[in-house]
Amino acid sequence: MKRITGWGRYPVGHSEVKPLLSVEKFPEGVGIPRGLGRSYGDASFCSEGYTWDTSPLNRFLTWDPDTGLLVAEAGVSLYAVIQRFLPEGWFPPVVPGTQFVTLGGAFASNIHGKNHHVNGAFADHVAWIDLLLPSGEIRRLDPSDPLFWATAGGMGLTGIVLRLALRLQRVPSAYIANLVYRPADWEALLSVLLEEEMHYPFAVAWVDHTDRRGKGVVHLGRFAEVEELPPAWQKHPFRTLRAGLWRVPSWLTVPAFGRLTAPLISKVYRLRHTPGQKLLPYAPYFFPLDGVGEWNRLWGPRGFVQFQFVVPMQTGLERVWRRLQKAPARSFLTVLKRLGAQRGPLAFSGPGWTLAIDLPATEAVFRFLRSLTDLVLAEGGRIYLTKDSLLHPEQFRAAYPEWEAFLQIKASVDPHYRLRSDLSQRLGLQP
Ligand SMILES: Cc1cc2nc3c(=O)[nH]c(=O)nc-3n(C[C@H](O)[C@H](O)[C@H](O)COP(=O)(O)OP(=O)(O)OC[C@H]3O[C@@H](n4cnc5c(N)ncnc54)[C@H](O)[C@@H]3O)c2cc1C
Repeated sequence: MKRITGWGRYPVGHSEVKPLLSVEKFPEGVGIPRGLGRSYGDASFCSEGYTWDTSPLNRFLTWDPDTGLLVAEAGVSLYAVIQRFLPEGWFPPVVPGTQFVTLGGAFASNIHGKNHHVNGAFADHVAWIDLLLPSGEIRRLDPSDPLFWATAGGMGLTGIVLRLALRLQRVPSAYIANLVYRPADWEALLSVLLEEEMHYPFAVAWVDHTDRRGKGVVHLGRFAEVEELPPAWQKHPFRTLRAGLWRVPSWLTVPAFGRLTAPLISKVYRLRHTPGQKLLPYAPYFFPLDGVGEWNRLWGPRGFVQFQFVVPMQTGLERVWRRLQKAPARSFLTVLKRLGAQRGPLAFSGPGWTLAIDLPATEAVFRFLRSLTDLVLAEGGRIYLTKDSLLHPEQFRAAYPEWEAFLQIKASVDPHYRLRSDLSQRLGLQP
């Protein structure tokens, strides 16, 4: 048994981690697949049983350069996809804020990126998956099958994704033309996002949680054409960048982010982002935090939680934001964007506004976020399961009214609940 956590290092589980060496039969016992462990809470481990590490499933299988259809094993990371295919002018259609996620993990959370308002979520670009069921059967599923959509966002609870076919997107270069606005308050920030987002494939805002007015930075981006690049970049328009050159050492266990540091980091962030159009490589644009390996250690041994919600109405967002300003801790990482509709019984779906905020894992923060969750629910919203560490079963059922439909589909392929995680236990998604 090994101590194990998600990216937030809270909550802590104890599980036997076993590499998934054979795809011929379903592994013994009960458990849950785990990719690169970038989900924040307890979705990717099972304290009652095994945690099946998908890293051995790391091969590219077929590639069609005419259509951009890539077939790969589920343990392949987006980092590997980018390193291999960006030099040929292809990029994943949806990327999260880190490239260190696996294709299986991206599908199981049905992740969204900065382009959700135009491109939808990850599963919208998947032609089919091969799902290993507890019976040992491997079922090929396409989007016409309800099990496909129960697995997208199903947090590993319907089967183990072995392989999938992903449609990559052609891009003109490896660089982003990013237009930066620096609104002076919350109202201005929302109106820039509302007015401008449809003109740009990538649209996201950072909000200063340490500032009462809610000033921020809005990023509106698109892939740059080669002619727009400076001559030195034009020579290598598809240059990939290696990540993780330095990492936070394990002995650095003092919380580096707190009441004093959050305002300072926020100020520096806002000052660095001067208004106007900038060209920058894809990696600092999409994955700014990947530059520092294991940055989650900076929060100290107690870890942190990321609270991400979606609410349909702007008035609801404003009520939640006003309450968030009374949080018992300050955050330097608060990201706001618009989210479109998504499919599937456990979809983290819009249309609406989604906001994600990092806060330290303390009892005061937990009490605050649990009551904030009730406000989100009253506003008709939901909490993103791949970031969640705190939801109660009643809150989960209120947030995801199709939970029974999900359990019915799960029961049809996993009648003995062999797929279970600390998350499914906490949410009451198992007997
Ligand atoms: C810095 C950072 C930024 C992020 N930004 C975003 C963002 O912008 N948008 C967004 O949507 N998410 C974001 N995330 C969350 C992240 O994209 C998801 O949690 C993703 O699922 C992590 O992939 P993983 O391979 O690490 O999966 P894990 O964390 O290991 O697992 C996540 C879930 O997927 C299941 N799973 C993993 N592999 C398989 C498989 N082969 N078959 C079936 N189920 C499987 C697990 O059981 C678990 O329930 C971010 C995370 C970090 C750390």
